[in-house]
Amino acid sequence: MSRVAIVTGGTRGIGEAISLALRDMGYTVAANYAGNAEKAKIFTDETGIPAYQWDVGDHQACLDGCAKVAADLGPIEVVVNNAGITRDGVLMKMSFEDWTDVMRVNLGGCFNMCKATFASMRDRNWGRVVNIGSINGQAGQYGQVNYAAAKSGIHGFTKALAQEGARYGITVNAVAPGYIDTDMVAAVPPQVLEKIVARVPVGRLGHAHEIARGVAFLCSEDAGFVTGSTLSINGGQHMY
Ligand code: NDP
Repeated sequence: MSRVAIVTGGTRGIGEAISLALRDMGYTVAANYAGNAEKAKIFTDETGIPAYQWDVGDHQACLDGCAKVAADLGPIEVVVNNAGITRDGVLMKMSFEDWTDVMRVNLGGCFNMCKATFASMRDRNWGRVVNIGSINGQAGQYGQVNYAAAKSGIHGFTKALAQEGARYGITVNAVAPGYIDTDMVAAVPPQVLEKIVARVPVGRLGHAHEIARGVAFLCSEDAGFVTGSTLSINGGQHMY
């Protein structure tokens, strides 16, 4: 029986590449998404990977969604917390909703998904959790106090949970991408993006599959001695 993996936000962007990489490793993959059903359908039609809609910021929805995945595919042993949103703006213009939405989805989603799956990993004495952080959680970014705080929180969450999981064979790691050519980055104004790319030593945006390869390693059997780590994949933009 192959191990069952769930990838949040797993039907497009970086998450789609992660879903495919885990599938190629032999895992049985479920991909969660928020609401873009059209893209999710195309994804499932093309890959055969089932897609499950729920909001990772909703605690009960995560419990119910993971129970459904487990009933359909088997006990979940690999969780990739990839779903994320941005609601950018300088502090003076950022609404309270922009703050809470980003904290609820990006950081709250990690808590909710780990609550929903940790017992099943602990019961098997084996598990892999990978949380997708960000270069902007490590270095900060103008206009992103909400996103930087949530992503920075993910790095602390990762180190704390790694300590709790270690005795049960559960590793918990983070991957911190730099700027990757997905829809999220397409929303950045071109003149801002040009300045960002000028600061990347390798001189380009990253590709989703380059993040996925790192995630796949951390989810593999071989990575059992790696826990509480952050793998930065950012073209050298922030050497942390
Ligand atoms: P995209 O915006 O391209 O895709 C986001 C994915 O997350 C979609 O599948 C979306 O679902 C899903 N999602 C959003 N909100 C929720 C929610 N509440 N519940 C469940 N699923 C949700 O993002 P990227 O692929 O660019 O980013 C993936 C991750 O990588 C994010 O955590 C992001 O913060 C992080 N990251 C990205 C970087 C980049 O340069 N792109 C850089 C650093 C970090 P749906 O399709 O239904 O909308």
